Amino acid sequence: MPKVLYAGADSARESYARELTAGFAEAGVAAELVFDAPDPAAIDYIVYAPASGLRDFTPFTNTRAVLSLWAGVETIVGNRTLTQPLTRMVDPGLTEGMREWVTGHVLRHHLGMDAHITGQDGVWRGDRPAPLARHRPVAVLGLGALGTTCARALAGLGFPVTGWSRAPRAVDGVDCRHGVEALAQVLSGAQILVLLLPATPETDGLMNAERLALLPPGAVIVNPGRGSLIDEPALLAALDSGRVGHATLDVFRTEPLPPGHPFWAHPRVTVTPHIASATRPETAARAIVRNISRAERGEPLEHVVDRARGY
Ligand code: NDP
Repeated sequence: MPKVLYAGADSARESYARELTAGFAEAGVAAELVFDAPDPAAIDYIVYAPASGLRDFTPFTNTRAVLSLWAGVETIVGNRTLTQPLTRMVDPGLTEGMREWVTGHVLRHHLGMDAHITGQDGVWRGDRPAPLARHRPVAVLGLGALGTTCARALAGLGFPVTGWSRAPRAVDGVDCRHGVEALAQVLSGAQILVLLLPATPETDGLMNAERLALLPPGAVIVNPGRGSLIDEPALLAALDSGRVGHATLDVFRTEPLPPGHPFWAHPRVTVTPHIASATRPETAARAIVRNISRAERGEPLEHVVDRARGY
C-alpha cells in the first residue's frame, strides 16, 4: 500500500485529509495518508506546499514523486536535494478561479467601471459608452493551463485576443504567437495585457522599460502571474507618465507587499493580495489522487515540471 505524506500548510491539513481520503476511496486506490515521516525512506509520494517548511528531500530515498499543491513551482524547482519527479498543480478549481478573476478585472478596465463606482459626483454623463469588446485588443502572455482558459473566455466575450507562449500553441479563437521575436508585435497591439507566465530566469523582468514602452499609450496591465515578470521601478515610471494607464497587480517581488511600497498609494495601481486563484482542496485533492493513481498503474505522471525550463 503506497504511503502518501501530506507536507502542506498546517491550516489546510484537515481539509486535505478529508478530501484526499475521499478521493482515494472514489478512485479505488488503497493508500495510507500520513502527516509526518519518522522513516522518510518509507514514503512513496509527497503532497507538497512550501508552507510545510520541507526543504531537504535527500532522506526520501524511495519517493516516486513530489506533487506540488501550487501551480507555480519557482521556490522548489531549483532545490538540488529534490531528485524525485516533481509535478505542478493543474486543477479545475484553480483554473476556473483564475478565469473569473482575469475576466472580471479585464471587464472592469474595458467598461471603465471605476468612473461610476468611485466618481459619483452628481453629474450625468450619458454620452460616453464604452467601446465594444471587439474593439479592445487583449494580449495574454502565457498559454498554459491558466492562460489558455483566460484567453478563451476573453475571446468568447468578443475581445480580439492574442496569446503568447514559448513553443507554438493553438487555441480556438485566439491569435497565437510564440518566441521572444514575436513579443514586440504582441505588446504593441495590446490595450489590455494579462500576464500568466511562470517565474523563471527567462521571464524575470520580462516587462522592462523597453517592453512597457511598446504598449499602446494608456494600456492596462493585469498581472496574476508572478511579481518577477515586471521591472517594478520601470512600471512605476510608466504609470507616472501615463504611458501605462493602470496596473492591477495580484503578485509582487516581495509578498506580502510591504506597507510603504509605492504601489499601495499609487492612483493607477490596484493591489490584490495574491488571491487571483487559490488551490482548492476539494478539486486539488482529486488532481493529486488522479496522478498517484496513474503512477500506481505504471502510467506516466501528468504535469511533470521540466527542471531545465523551470516550469
Ligand atoms: P503553465 O506551466 O501551464 O504555463 C506556462 C505558460 O507560460 C506556457 O504557455 C509557457 O509556454 C509560457 N512560458 C513560460 N516561459 C516562457 C517564455 N520564456 N516565453 C514565452 N512563454 C513562456 O502554467 P499555468 O498556466 O498553470 O500557470 C501560470 C502561472 O500562474 C504560474 O506559474 C503561477 O506563477 C501563476 N499563478 C498565480 C496564481 C495567483 O493566485 N495569482 C495562482 C496560480 C498560478 P509553453 O506553452 O510554450 O510551454
